[in-house]
Amino acid sequence: LARKLAHSERLASIGRFAAGVAHEIGNPVTGIACLAQNLKLETEQPEVLDTGDQIVDQTRRINRIVQSLVRFAHTGRQEGPEHFEVINLHETVAEAIHLVSLDRRGRQQHFYNDVPASLLISGDLQLLLQVFVNLLNNASDASEEAGDIRVEAHLQEQSVEVWITDDGTGIPPELQSQLFEPFFTTKEPGKGTGLGLPLVYNIIAQHYGNIEILSPANKKQNKGTRVVITLPRLQEDTIPSQQPETDEEGLSG
Ligand code: ADP
Repeated sequence: LARKLAHSERLASIGRFAAGVAHEIGNPVTGIACLAQNLKLETEQPEVLDTGDQIVDQTRRINRIVQSLVRFAHTGRQEGPEHFEVINLHETVAEAIHLVSLDRRGRQQHFYNDVPASLLISGDLQLLLQVFVNLLNNASDASEEAGDIRVEAHLQEQSVEVWITDDGTGIPPELQSQLFEPFFTTKEPGKGTGLGLPLVYNIIAQHYGNIEILSPANKKQNKGTRVVITLPRLQEDTIPSQQPETDEEGLSG
């Protein structure tokens, strides 16, 4: 228990640090949104207007994330389910895959979304998107140029397990106890902050869930990593009798 408390305190202090950074990010992001609006006033070209809209959309996204970081840091505790809404897990994963693949053009990695199409959970959409974007980015970073990354859901009686599996480098056993330590990273400076998994841990805890990292995911070949997230199951969730076709988002350069 003492270890868990110390861990929570450290995460809370990281939360305050993140709030400071978020504050500094807020102003330039608002500046970018204003510049994009001005650009739209200067032109009638459809492509430029569309790009302007997309820039504004993305800055709104950043602002929402920044706000949730600030909110989280301010309360210094887990937010209750009063902010939660009913969320379609398949669509959430699909959006995260879309966002990560925008960033990863030029690689031949394949992302598979095997989450049933009508699986609903209760949560905060923006925070859960952060979870999946972080985990998919990690999986992608660990994978070969042509790796497969798969998201699946497994239903238990009271909960749903979400597996994010890659066939990448895996994580050496001696490093596994440090994965949720703030600032622990094996990536080059500028590429990793070591804040991804601590943030994911916090968000999953806020959702009354649990996270486990199993590596190697494939013991025989001694490679790959599987992240297992367990979230409470919604009473009224509906599961189709047929599994949907796998969605595949292929990336090719
Ligand atoms: P960052 O991605 O900024 O390094 P994270 O907290 O998200 O921070 O991850 C910490 C470290 O955990 C990574 O630097 C990497 O060494 C390891 N890691 C996380 N996910 C994976 C994965 N799927 N495969 C291999 N290593 C991983």
